[in-house]
Amino acid sequence: MRIDIITVLPEMLEGFFNCSIMSRAQKKGIAEFHIHNLRDYTFDRYRKVDDYPFGGCAGMVMKIEPIDRCISALKAERNYDEVIFTTPDGEQFDQKMANTLSMTQNLIILCGHFKGIDYRIREHFITKEISIGDYVLTGGELAAAVIADAVVRVIPGVISDEQSALSDSSQDNLLAPPVYTRPADYKGWKVPDILLSGHEAKIREWEFQQSVERTKQLRPDLLK
Ligand code: SAH
Repeated sequence: MRIDIITVLPEMLEGFFNCSIMSRAQKKGIAEFHIHNLRDYTFDRYRKVDDYPFGGCAGMVMKIEPIDRCISALKAERNYDEVIFTTPDGEQFDQKMANTLSMTQNLIILCGHFKGIDYRIREHFITKEISIGDYVLTGGELAAAVIADAVVRVIPGVISDEQSALSDSSQDNLLAPPVYTRPADYKGWKVPDILLSGHEAKIREWEFQQSVERTKQLRPDLLK
């Protein structure tokens, strides 16, 4: 899978994609991340990507031309399954959407800034608008990182123990059971006996019960 991210703050994303699972996914050849500096698609000496809004309201708006040039250059090279815009008024991102996007080949993610982007970009280029939650960030970079991470980690082979991604919270609308590691007794705080019993079937049953209990208590809405 290939993800192209268009941003005015490439340095904010480069570190993220060079770490941990995202970096491993690239080394294994399962995912490629390409970060494009929107300012490289400007022609003026100030590399300007924003301008005053029509109508005289406060704030700045991202201009249409550099975004058109960047998206068009990418689309001339390959077909994209989705051209995503990160925006607080988009469809709410969740595990189901991450799973669906993980089955695509090529994605563009456009990160907004300032007051947002010229609306014509949304009308003519964007195929999917995603919000990562009901709060407003200063830019779309964190949202793009969240989306890319959640999408890529469920591609088979990215996490060595595939089961581990599938058994995460919200893959089956159940929260994950508690997990423990050594030492089995720390200052008298003990790991549940069942986990040390070696009885595989009973352990799975215990985990399932814990998942159901925790979901009932913490996120009853998921069980509806
Ligand atoms: N004026 C806009 C908010 C602009 S915030 C509005 O009220 O909708 C600047 C940029 O940050 C947005 O264009 C978007 O790309 C990003 N952003 C902010 N909050 C976000 C969220 N919850 N999910 C996804 N992207 C978000």
